[in-house]
Amino acid sequence: MENFMSDELLGTFAPILVYWVYSGIYVLLSPFENYRLHPKKDEHVKNLVSKRTVVRGVLLQQALQAAVAVILFSVTSNGGEATNLQPSLLVKARQFLVAMFVLDTWQYFMHRYMHHNKFLYRHIHSQHHRLVVPYAFGALYNHPLEGLLLDTIGGALSFLLSGMSPRASIFFFSFATIKTVDDHCGLWLPGNLFHMLFNNNSAYHDIHHQLYGGKYNFSQPFFVTWDKILGTHMPYSLEKRTGGGFEARPAKDKI
Ligand SMILES: [Zn+2]
Ligand SMILES: [Zn+2]
Repeated sequence: MENFMSDELLGTFAPILVYWVYSGIYVLLSPFENYRLHPKKDEHVKNLVSKRTVVRGVLLQQALQAAVAVILFSVTSNGGEATNLQPSLLVKARQFLVAMFVLDTWQYFMHRYMHHNKFLYRHIHSQHHRLVVPYAFGALYNHPLEGLLLDTIGGALSFLLSGMSPRASIFFFSFATIKTVDDHCGLWLPGNLFHMLFNNNSAYHDIHHQLYGGKYNFSQPFFVTWDKILGTHMPYSLEKRTGGGFEARPAKDKI
């Protein structure tokens, strides 16, 4: 029982810790112009919100999500009776993939609807798009209602439908958090495994954050599948930027 409870708490709080540690590393790397997707100064010129407000917004959201997650875990808990029944590695891998698919599916349709519905965009999702030049710790800068709808409910669905244990959820939610932070890091670093393994990466999501990108690249956080199936996929090329670094340029004929 004690272990089970600590798994639940870790599943809730480890992703928060991981978020700040991983984005902290990117804060240290962010001055390296040669790997940036936008000039550093554009963080101040183009973004419509200060970093202080972003930090406050993310902390508020994480506090709300932690509260909801603790409640959800306690509602779905089986009292710790199955603590020692750990599934095989194959089953765990399948649960992980199912959770990725469920989270991707939920987030794609909710995210796309947030752009389609003008009221929801204006009052809720536009908050995230104040970051035209994304940076790592802005990844979860969202309206609290969006955090609840996309992240918390999406996370709860992927947990419940995949059937994973609270212990596995520690790794899944931490992984999803790292992936989301990486997609907003604003850098194209050599050897970044996420860039090699996922077509959905910091350049792909950067396109969505640009003013012309609001109709494309809704898929998040893992695969580009739904964008491809439903025709919202914007291919891009990574060009050298004058002044160092790179620029993700959209395929011109689609804009
Ligand atoms: Zn969006
Ligand atoms: Zn984003």
